Amino acid sequence: MKTNNLGYPRIGSNRELKKANELYWAGKITTEALLKTGEKIRLENWKLQAAIGIDFIPSNDFSFYDQVLDLSLTVGAIPERYHEFAETNSFLDLYFAMARGAQKNDQDVVAMEMTKWFDTNYHYIVPEFTKNQKFYLFSEKVVDEFKEAKTIGITSKPVLIGPVSYLLLGKEKEADFHRIDLLDKLLPVYFEIITKLQCEGASEIQFDEPFLALNLTDLERAAIVKTYNQIHKQFPTLKIQLANYFDCFGNNIETALSLPVDTFHLDLVRCPLQLDDILESNLLAPNTKISLGVVDGRNIWKNDFKKSLQLIQKAIDALGTDRVLIGTSCSLIHSPCDLDLETNEENLSTEVKQWLAFAKQKIEEVVVLRNLATNEITEYDQAQFEANTVANEKRKTATIIHNDAVKNRVASIEENDSKRNNPFAVRSIQQAKSLQLPLFPTTTIGSFPQTPEVRSWRAKFKKGDLSTKEYDALLKKETEETIRFQEQSGIDVLVHGEFERNDMVEYFGEQLAGFAFTKNGWVQSYGSRCVKPPVIYGDVSRPSPMTVKWAEYAQSLTPKWVKGMLTGPVTILQWSFVRDDQPRSTTCTQIALAIRDEVVDLEKAGIKIIQIDEPAIREGLPLQKEEWANYLDWAIKAFRISASGVADDTQIHTHMCYSEFNDIIQNIADMDADVITIECSRSQMELLDAFADFKYPNEIGPGVYDIHSPRVPSNDEMVNLLEKAASVIPIKQLWVNPDCGLKTRHWDETKKALIEMVKAAQKMRVAALEVV
Ligand code: GLN
Ligand code: ZN
Repeated sequence: MKTNNLGYPRIGSNRELKKANELYWAGKITTEALLKTGEKIRLENWKLQAAIGIDFIPSNDFSFYDQVLDLSLTVGAIPERYHEFAETNSFLDLYFAMARGAQKNDQDVVAMEMTKWFDTNYHYIVPEFTKNQKFYLFSEKVVDEFKEAKTIGITSKPVLIGPVSYLLLGKEKEADFHRIDLLDKLLPVYFEIITKLQCEGASEIQFDEPFLALNLTDLERAAIVKTYNQIHKQFPTLKIQLANYFDCFGNNIETALSLPVDTFHLDLVRCPLQLDDILESNLLAPNTKISLGVVDGRNIWKNDFKKSLQLIQKAIDALGTDRVLIGTSCSLIHSPCDLDLETNEENLSTEVKQWLAFAKQKIEEVVVLRNLATNEITEYDQAQFEANTVANEKRKTATIIHNDAVKNRVASIEENDSKRNNPFAVRSIQQAKSLQLPLFPTTTIGSFPQTPEVRSWRAKFKKGDLSTKEYDALLKKETEETIRFQEQSGIDVLVHGEFERNDMVEYFGEQLAGFAFTKNGWVQSYGSRCVKPPVIYGDVSRPSPMTVKWAEYAQSLTPKWVKGMLTGPVTILQWSFVRDDQPRSTTCTQIALAIRDEVVDLEKAGIKIIQIDEPAIREGLPLQKEEWANYLDWAIKAFRISASGVADDTQIHTHMCYSEFNDIIQNIADMDADVITIECSRSQMELLDAFADFKYPNEIGPGVYDIHSPRVPSNDEMVNLLEKAASVIPIKQLWVNPDCGLKTRHWDETKKALIEMVKAAQKMRVAALEVV
């Protein structure tokens, strides 16, 4: 019985890739140095997996920025606007320009759009397609990495996003065609890649078609059938592992099982029941194998060996060991690298640590499970099994997990707890009266640049090299300067800048009971950005106020309004590693009550505008539409519980970014935030099309510039976007703000961009007056 891994983290266990990328972008290291870092990470990953005993070791799972962008370059899907840039720049610089935009000498190109990878917090670069799109083999990364693994004696399993999922991940940039129509043009490039890989000795390739977990149209399903039949026809000896993950095959199961592939990979963590369906269906061809994704690639809990072995045994009974593979549920890029690096008892106690497994440990679990299931049990395996059983038993009864007061409070929530006192129409009048804001009020999303100095203060403070008093004094100074800059540039609703926060979820988690932290549990969010999700292991409560001190301080500096800044319950849930021993909705409601208490305390402290960020609402949507309503019901309710403890004239904002919101606009309106600021600029306000049909009732700030790029937009560009917005939304509902927080930007570009933004708002006000 073989062991199978779908992908390994590529950031390096000490975030080597992030650091090298950022040095390269800053012009501080050479191309060679960056390439060397990539090579080192790949070789280490391969060697580790081989040493532990993984049979199918993935290659092409490495990426300098994003695997979808890699594929766009592989198949030559390079949008027109980069062609000139490509002529005078290196491959790597073209690649990064597509990812991040570039302003270099007289060249100025904007980045490609970025969005979330299914229901994860990983962001990919959205392929752009035109009607006459051409594809050709432009980059041979996948072949090069296969060859590279061979140099250390490893015949790897190249991983490619399947052609259908690749097309579906993209966007049409012109009218009158569907991207799936491009399949016939795309397939020849895949054939070329497969030919090259086979020449180099690859016999088995993993094709990821995660769209098989979504509701597909007949057209899309037909495209899947065509793709794999054609590949099989062209390459009859090629073994294909068709990987689906994050949910069941659902309605696509018959289509999937009819495909001429060697192995179907199933995500049995998200969907354990589909194993029965498949085994009982008689649809599996006689020699086809299944890869059992029993080890969770999305969460950090130790595998439950007893449970996994039952599933594995069932599969072996039906198919025999030769037709069963044991694997991770999905790529491990969603897991931190190595639990062994967690040695800090204060962050992560031994008690909690014994319940966890990171990527390296997960790979070991896969191997031990295989051994346990095949009776090739060594003493080591037996000891692992016993340790696993003990740890999982202890977790069920641990006193640090259960808090009756919290459970009772959740049980006694009433209908009114999720309602403001009056509807928006009433509230908005009171807010207008007390806040006195101009038309097109300007604001930002919360964070200001987290400079190397700010980060060094925090590091020193954590190490004990700065006292609380010294640290606070530095943060106060930074906050005051930020307030002064906002006053001077004419921004209407100020923020304190979030300098005291490392991360918008970690900051809250650190102050809430029921959370644990890792020192090094980094996971890639996009490009060089990594996050360190907290671990929610127990019932959640708020021992004391979390943000009031900073909000109060900032407000004391200025007569203008300062917005209080909180992360919402759904986002805290979504961006944490969440308990798997109770429903997500229960954990979310517990967090909502804690945030509600904070909102009320901010109001008491004189903060009249409070933002509760929910950038992750959309990504929490289940992949299959039948399950949407249930999720939206509890998620929206949790937000409302957090927001509804205040008076009518306290203005609640929320913020969302990097998602398609069109299909849940009604639910976003149901959140009943007084103001929503929302990402729009990368898609040129496409999002607002939805507002043309749907009369969004409350106020809205469509982001007018992309903060994920160092590029400084001109005020005319922003006026242009605002005019688009004003054509579908009444101007008295419009706010002016960037797409998202500014923490990743430098001060220089931030100042320039915000000054331009205020100018744009002023121009809009003048134009509005002229109309009147
Ligand atoms: N308030 C947060 C910030 O400004 C919001 C970040 C986000 O939406 N991801 O950084
Ligand atoms: Zn955002």
